[in-house]
Amino acid sequence: MTDQTPAVEAATTDSPALSAGQVPTSWYNIAADLPEPIPPHLHPGTKEPIVVDDLLGLFPRALAEQELSTQRWIEIPEAVRDVYASWRSTPLLRARRLEKALGTSSHIYLKYEGASPVGSHKPNSAVAQAYYNQQEGITKLTTETGAGQWGSSLAFAGALFGLDVEIWQVRASYESKPYRRHLMELYGGVVHSSPSELTEAGKAILANDPDTTGSLGMAVSEAVEVAVGDQAARYALGSVLNHVVLHQSVIGQEAIAQLEAAGEDGADIVFGCAGGGSNLGGLAFPFLRHVLSGDSSTKVVAAEPVACPSLTAGEYRYDHGDFSGMTPLLKMYTLGQDFVPDPIHAGGLRYHGMAPALSHVVHLGLADAVAIEQDAAFNAGILLARTEGLVPAPESTHALAAAFRHVSESSAEETVVIGLSGHGNLDLPAYGSFVENYPG
Ligand SMILES: *Cc1c(COP(=O)(O)O)cnc(C)c1O
Repeated sequence: MTDQTPAVEAATTDSPALSAGQVPTSWYNIAADLPEPIPPHLHPGTKEPIVVDDLLGLFPRALAEQELSTQRWIEIPEAVRDVYASWRSTPLLRARRLEKALGTSSHIYLKYEGASPVGSHKPNSAVAQAYYNQQEGITKLTTETGAGQWGSSLAFAGALFGLDVEIWQVRASYESKPYRRHLMELYGGVVHSSPSELTEAGKAILANDPDTTGSLGMAVSEAVEVAVGDQAARYALGSVLNHVVLHQSVIGQEAIAQLEAAGEDGADIVFGCAGGGSNLGGLAFPFLRHVLSGDSSTKVVAAEPVACPSLTAGEYRYDHGDFSGMTPLLKMYTLGQDFVPDPIHAGGLRYHGMAPALSHVVHLGLADAVAIEQDAAFNAGILLARTEGLVPAPESTHALAAAFRHVSESSAEETVVIGLSGHGNLDLPAYGSFVENYPG
């Protein structure tokens, strides 16, 4: 995957033509096309831009190189494509009954990542990360998880590539979402409630605040600490970093080909929920490639929860990715590394920062952001269930609510693409408490 490898270069200089139904052969890296470079990550000690070697305690070399790469197309290894092919391409569904219920003449399409084995977009990166770690002789991965979507994705990927997977799950979710813990354990993962007594970071947090509901930032600190202390282990992050957003670019590449097959002339507007920014970046960046080359004017909207509004209320500055300040400094929209959001149902949207790539894109004006109240999000999820039958993940309902608001306020006939990042079949208790008070 280096620039010098002729075989890879040949496959990656030009846009790989994709037709509907095919699994992409390369990941798309928006860093190659942005008018200004994404600000570099900084070393937490020296505050200098990091180089590949700085990341090798955390990640295998291939992923460290992808993190810093500005190469436009990066070939997807055969073994990863083979796994993708068991559920990709994911459906792009035209939601006609939903359009009718909303009274809109816009065309609404749902890009449905809930079709993956664990029910979200997250295996797109988990499978790639497990593969590269296994290739470099790593035997164990540590990670954090909120609702358990990432933990179950990595446990699944670890099972495929023979890696042990140890997961720190945010306490609020560990206690309120036992089904995903069962899923992680079913795939062979080992799950701890975070903060835990197993790490120095966790012990320090608990000593200070024994009743904390936990946060993704705290869980990252614990997982990083354990990975750094074990030669055979590396850390895996489920969102935020450039290489994770890169892996998710299969979503948007497929959606573009599928829209074309459906007779649409691209998309007017793309909505996605944004927790760390990976599903939205993965869906939207391939569309933005055409915007950046002047061939389209697709708008992109990030929907985040009012309870954790990094893009709409955070500051754009350097911050750590974790609570204890062990990760590189990332230039991103952030609420601060020690921000602990309310325990909303959308556990995957409870992260204090936002992907540097997506933050930069928002900062450049290539994407907008809106904050959605939890009630509006659930209302949107229930409407989708009652029209199309799909029960969306609580995270995804934020994208739905933002899109529904847009089409109801606009008389334009648009092609609207909504990232349905996951299904909510394991989030029924959250829906249950909400449906009781729902009219109709
Ligand atoms: C984790 C998760 C998210 C949030 O993460 P992003 O990196 O912003 O995509 C959104 N939806 C689902 C279903 C998730 O599991």
